[in-house]
Amino acid sequence: MARLDVLLDGYASDKGVAGTVSLIRDGDLVAIVDPGMVPTRASILGPLTKMGVSPEDVTDVILSHHHPDHTVNIALFPDVRIHDHWAMYHNDQWTSRPAEGVQLSSGVRLMETPGHTPQDITTLVETDDGVAALTHLWVFEGSEGNRLDVAPDLVAEHRGRVLEVASLIIPGHGSPFRLDR
Ligand SMILES: [Zn+2]
Ligand SMILES: [Zn+2]
Repeated sequence: MARLDVLLDGYASDKGVAGTVSLIRDGDLVAIVDPGMVPTRASILGPLTKMGVSPEDVTDVILSHHHPDHTVNIALFPDVRIHDHWAMYHNDQWTSRPAEGVQLSSGVRLMETPGHTPQDITTLVETDDGVAALTHLWVFEGSEGNRLDVAPDLVAEHRGRVLEVASLIIPGHGSPFRLDR
């Protein structure tokens, strides 16, 4: 089973915008999801260090999509493979592949969930506590959508796919919440 820890609960309000940043550990995989806009870099590195993980230990970064609020701090991690909707990147190597079904470890899988942007993906994590979905399909608990969603119909469709497999949602700009199943 994979271990999932949320390093920072994101928000989007009058006080500012921060993306939800998470850590996934599963065997050799040490992955950060969405190292984006945060108050200061210590907002990511502080919780990470407390969990006994240094930036050098991180092996992979997963991007839910390409907006800066989810990407601007990738370079905090010096030697990582980076995964998005259509490729894996490592140093100067760009390996094209569709994200759908990509298995990063036994308990971590990617799913293509376009709608907010055409480039959105969801990360599914099998934990002791059920399957968690790290996704921008939900901005926060109860959100109907995002004013920036380019295809609300696709958001609704892919929410349905996620609801079939996940019991916990880690939303793009909010605290984790459980689904009524
Ligand atoms: Zn976005
Ligand atoms: Zn966002």
